[in-house]
Amino acid sequence: MEDGPLGLIRALRGALGDEGTLVMPTMTDGASVFDPTSTPTHGMGITAETFWRQPGVMRSSHPGGSFAAIGPMASFICAPQPLSPPHGPDSPPGRVHELGGQVLLLGVTHSENTTLHVGEAIAGVPYSVTHPTVVNIDGVVTTVMIAETDHCCRRFDQMDRWLRERGLQREGKVGNADARLCASRDVVEVAVEKLLIDPLLFLCGGNEGCVECDAARDSVPSHA
Ligand SMILES: [Zn+2]
Repeated sequence: MEDGPLGLIRALRGALGDEGTLVMPTMTDGASVFDPTSTPTHGMGITAETFWRQPGVMRSSHPGGSFAAIGPMASFICAPQPLSPPHGPDSPPGRVHELGGQVLLLGVTHSENTTLHVGEAIAGVPYSVTHPTVVNIDGVVTTVMIAETDHCCRRFDQMDRWLRERGLQREGKVGNADARLCASRDVVEVAVEKLLIDPLLFLCGGNEGCVECDAARDSVPSHA
Protein backbone atom coordinates (compact mmCIF):
# COMPACT_ATOMS: atom_id res chain seq x y z
CA MET A 1 0.00 0.00 0.00
CA GLU A 2 1.34 3.44 -0.92
CA ASP A 3 2.83 5.07 2.21
CA GLY A 4 1.87 2.00 4.25
CA PRO A 5 -0.40 2.33 7.32
CA LEU A 6 -0.08 6.14 7.34
CA GLY A 7 -1.22 6.25 3.71
CA LEU A 8 -4.25 4.13 4.59
CA ILE A 9 -5.07 6.28 7.62
CA ARG A 10 -4.79 9.44 5.48
CA ALA A 11 -7.08 7.92 2.84
CA LEU A 12 -9.70 6.97 5.43
CA ARG A 13 -9.60 10.43 6.97
CA GLY A 14 -9.86 11.97 3.53
CA ALA A 15 -12.94 9.86 2.75
CA LEU A 16 -14.59 10.92 6.03
CA GLY A 17 -13.74 14.60 5.72
CA ASP A 18 -13.54 17.09 8.57
CA GLU A 19 -17.04 16.19 9.80
CA GLY A 20 -16.22 12.51 10.14
CA THR A 21 -14.67 10.70 13.07
CA LEU A 22 -12.34 7.74 12.44
CA VAL A 23 -12.33 5.02 15.11
CA MET A 24 -10.18 1.91 15.38
CA PRO A 25 -9.87 -0.91 17.94
CA THR A 26 -6.68 -0.71 20.01
CA MET A 27 -7.28 -3.63 22.36
CA THR A 28 -4.58 -4.95 24.66
CA ASP A 29 -3.91 -8.26 26.41
CA GLY A 30 -4.55 -7.03 29.95
CA ALA A 31 -1.29 -8.59 31.17
CA SER A 32 0.06 -5.31 32.55
CA VAL A 33 -1.41 -2.02 33.76
CA PHE A 34 -2.90 -0.26 30.73
CA ASP A 35 -1.51 3.14 29.83
CA PRO A 36 -3.35 4.63 26.83
CA THR A 37 -0.25 6.63 25.94
CA SER A 38 2.16 3.68 25.79
CA THR A 39 0.60 0.19 25.90
CA PRO A 40 0.87 -1.49 22.47
CA THR A 41 -2.19 -3.06 20.89
CA HIS A 42 -2.53 -6.85 20.85
CA GLY A 43 -3.51 -8.50 17.58
CA MET A 44 -5.07 -5.38 16.08
CA GLY A 45 -2.71 -5.04 13.12
CA ILE A 46 -0.17 -2.42 12.11
CA THR A 47 -2.74 0.15 10.94
CA ALA A 48 -4.50 0.43 14.31
CA GLU A 49 -1.17 0.26 16.12
CA THR A 50 0.09 3.15 13.98
CA PHE A 51 -3.18 5.09 14.23
CA TRP A 52 -3.37 5.55 18.02
CA ARG A 53 0.20 6.89 18.09
CA GLN A 54 -0.61 9.78 15.71
CA PRO A 55 -0.88 13.36 17.02
CA GLY A 56 -4.43 14.36 17.94
CA VAL A 57 -5.71 10.79 18.23
CA MET A 58 -7.54 10.00 21.49
CA ARG A 59 -7.50 6.56 23.10
CA SER A 60 -10.09 5.27 25.53
CA SER A 61 -9.13 3.92 28.93
CA HIS A 62 -10.55 0.39 29.13
CA PRO A 63 -7.69 -1.89 30.30
CA GLY A 64 -8.42 -4.56 27.68
CA GLY A 65 -10.92 -3.21 25.18
CA SER A 66 -9.71 0.27 24.24
CA PHE A 67 -10.45 2.13 21.01
CA ALA A 68 -8.79 5.17 19.45
CA ALA A 69 -10.52 7.98 17.59
CA ILE A 70 -9.90 11.28 15.84
CA GLY A 71 -12.51 13.77 14.69
CA PRO A 72 -15.42 15.78 16.14
CA MET A 73 -16.92 12.84 18.11
CA ALA A 74 -13.64 11.40 19.38
CA SER A 75 -13.96 12.55 22.98
CA PHE A 76 -17.56 11.28 23.20
CA ILE A 77 -16.57 7.91 21.75
CA CYS A 78 -13.47 7.55 23.96
CA ALA A 79 -15.13 8.70 27.22
CA PRO A 80 -14.73 6.48 30.31
CA GLN A 81 -16.86 3.33 30.37
CA PRO A 82 -17.68 0.43 32.72
CA LEU A 83 -15.14 -2.40 32.91
CA SER A 84 -17.80 -4.93 31.97
CA PRO A 85 -18.92 -5.54 29.37
CA PRO A 86 -16.00 -4.07 27.42
CA HIS A 87 -18.09 -3.71 24.27
CA GLY A 88 -21.65 -3.10 25.40
CA PRO A 89 -23.87 -0.09 24.59
CA ASP A 90 -21.77 2.10 26.92
CA SER A 91 -18.44 1.61 25.15
CA PRO A 92 -16.74 3.06 22.07
CA PRO A 93 -18.45 0.70 19.57
CA GLY A 94 -21.72 1.16 21.49
CA ARG A 95 -21.41 4.92 21.10
CA VAL A 96 -20.62 4.58 17.40
CA HIS A 97 -23.81 2.55 17.18
CA GLU A 98 -25.72 5.24 19.07
CA LEU A 99 -24.34 7.93 16.73
CA GLY A 100 -25.33 6.02 13.60
CA GLY A 101 -21.78 5.27 12.52
CA GLN A 102 -20.57 2.83 9.93
CA VAL A 103 -18.47 -0.31 10.28
CA LEU A 104 -15.68 -0.91 7.74
CA LEU A 105 -14.20 -4.40 7.78
CA LEU A 106 -11.00 -3.96 5.80
CA GLY A 107 -9.19 -7.20 5.10
CA VAL A 108 -11.12 -8.96 7.86
CA THR A 109 -14.59 -10.49 8.11
CA HIS A 110 -17.45 -10.21 10.59
CA SER A 111 -15.55 -12.62 12.88
CA GLU A 112 -13.55 -9.47 13.79
CA ASN A 113 -16.59 -7.18 13.99
CA THR A 114 -16.64 -5.89 17.60
CA THR A 115 -19.99 -4.20 16.98
CA LEU A 116 -21.55 -7.67 17.15
CA HIS A 117 -20.68 -7.73 20.86
CA VAL A 118 -22.85 -4.61 21.19
CA GLY A 119 -25.65 -6.65 19.62
CA GLU A 120 -25.02 -9.53 22.04
CA ALA A 121 -25.23 -7.14 25.00
CA ILE A 122 -28.47 -5.55 23.78
CA ALA A 123 -29.99 -8.98 23.09
CA GLY A 124 -28.94 -10.11 26.57
CA VAL A 125 -27.26 -13.35 25.47
CA PRO A 126 -27.00 -15.83 28.35
CA TYR A 127 -23.26 -16.58 28.04
CA SER A 128 -20.45 -14.66 29.68
CA VAL A 129 -16.87 -15.63 30.46
CA THR A 130 -14.31 -13.78 32.54
CA HIS A 131 -10.71 -12.88 31.75
CA PRO A 132 -8.06 -11.70 34.22
CA THR A 133 -7.01 -8.11 33.57
CA VAL A 134 -4.39 -6.12 35.45
CA VAL A 135 -5.66 -2.73 36.61
CA ASN A 136 -4.50 0.10 38.82
CA ILE A 137 -7.21 1.03 41.33
CA ASP A 138 -6.33 4.12 43.37
CA GLY A 139 -2.63 3.37 43.02
CA VAL A 140 -2.91 -0.33 43.84
CA VAL A 141 -2.07 -2.75 41.05
CA THR A 142 -4.43 -5.70 41.14
CA THR A 143 -6.01 -8.27 38.86
CA VAL A 144 -9.74 -8.13 38.24
CA MET A 145 -11.90 -10.60 36.36
CA ILE A 146 -13.76 -8.87 33.54
CA ALA A 147 -16.89 -10.59 32.24
CA GLU A 148 -17.61 -10.42 28.53
CA THR A 149 -19.53 -12.29 25.84
CA ASP A 150 -16.39 -13.92 24.53
CA HIS A 151 -16.13 -16.90 22.19
CA CYS A 152 -14.20 -17.71 18.99
CA CYS A 153 -16.47 -15.37 16.99
CA ARG A 154 -16.17 -17.45 13.81
CA ARG A 155 -19.96 -17.71 13.58
CA PHE A 156 -20.20 -13.93 13.40
CA ASP A 157 -19.50 -14.62 9.71
CA GLN A 158 -23.16 -15.62 9.34
CA MET A 159 -23.78 -11.86 9.19
CA ASP A 160 -22.57 -11.83 5.56
CA ARG A 161 -25.59 -13.81 4.42
CA TRP A 162 -28.12 -11.95 6.57
CA LEU A 163 -26.88 -8.50 5.55
CA ARG A 164 -26.48 -9.44 1.88
CA GLU A 165 -30.00 -10.82 1.55
CA ARG A 166 -31.34 -7.48 2.84
CA GLY A 167 -28.95 -5.37 0.74
CA LEU A 168 -27.37 -3.89 3.86
CA GLN A 169 -23.71 -4.59 3.08
CA ARG A 170 -21.51 -2.92 0.45
CA GLU A 171 -18.53 -5.00 -0.66
CA GLY A 172 -15.51 -4.29 -2.80
CA LYS A 173 -11.75 -4.23 -3.02
CA VAL A 174 -9.62 -1.60 -1.30
CA GLY A 175 -6.14 -2.24 -2.60
CA ASN A 176 -5.74 -5.99 -2.23
CA ALA A 177 -8.14 -6.21 0.70
CA ASP A 178 -11.71 -7.44 0.62
CA ALA A 179 -13.77 -4.69 2.22
CA ARG A 180 -17.23 -4.77 3.76
CA LEU A 181 -19.09 -1.61 4.75
CA CYS A 182 -22.32 -1.57 6.72
CA ALA A 183 -24.23 0.64 9.12
CA SER A 184 -23.57 -0.15 12.77
CA ARG A 185 -27.31 0.07 13.45
CA ASP A 186 -28.06 -2.50 10.72
CA VAL A 187 -25.42 -4.86 12.14
CA VAL A 188 -26.87 -4.60 15.64
CA GLU A 189 -30.51 -4.74 14.52
CA VAL A 190 -30.02 -7.89 12.42
CA ALA A 191 -27.89 -9.58 15.11
CA VAL A 192 -30.42 -8.82 17.86
CA GLU A 193 -33.28 -10.08 15.71
CA LYS A 194 -31.46 -13.39 15.13
CA LEU A 195 -30.29 -13.71 18.76
CA LEU A 196 -33.82 -13.28 20.10
CA ILE A 197 -34.78 -16.37 18.07
CA ASP A 198 -31.67 -18.39 19.05
CA PRO A 199 -29.49 -16.80 21.76
CA LEU A 200 -26.61 -19.26 21.12
CA LEU A 201 -26.45 -18.95 17.32
CA PHE A 202 -23.04 -17.26 17.38
CA LEU A 203 -21.46 -20.17 19.30
CA CYS A 204 -19.90 -23.21 17.60
CA GLY A 205 -21.85 -26.42 18.12
CA GLY A 206 -21.19 -28.39 21.29
CA ASN A 207 -19.72 -31.24 19.21
CA GLU A 208 -17.26 -29.13 17.23
CA GLY A 209 -14.47 -29.07 19.80
CA CYS A 210 -14.22 -25.28 19.98
CA VAL A 211 -12.72 -24.61 23.41
CA GLU A 212 -13.79 -20.94 23.51
CA CYS A 213 -17.37 -21.56 22.43
CA ASP A 214 -17.63 -24.55 24.79
CA ALA A 215 -16.58 -22.26 27.66
CA ALA A 216 -19.24 -19.75 26.64
CA ARG A 217 -21.83 -22.53 26.35
CA ASP A 218 -20.87 -23.90 29.80
CA SER A 219 -21.42 -20.42 31.28
CA VAL A 220 -25.12 -20.46 30.42
CA PRO A 221 -26.92 -20.89 33.77
CA SER A 222 -29.65 -23.26 32.59
CA HIS A 223 -27.13 -25.36 30.68
CA ALA A 224 -25.55 -26.98 33.75
ZN1 LIG B 1 -16.18 -21.37 18.32
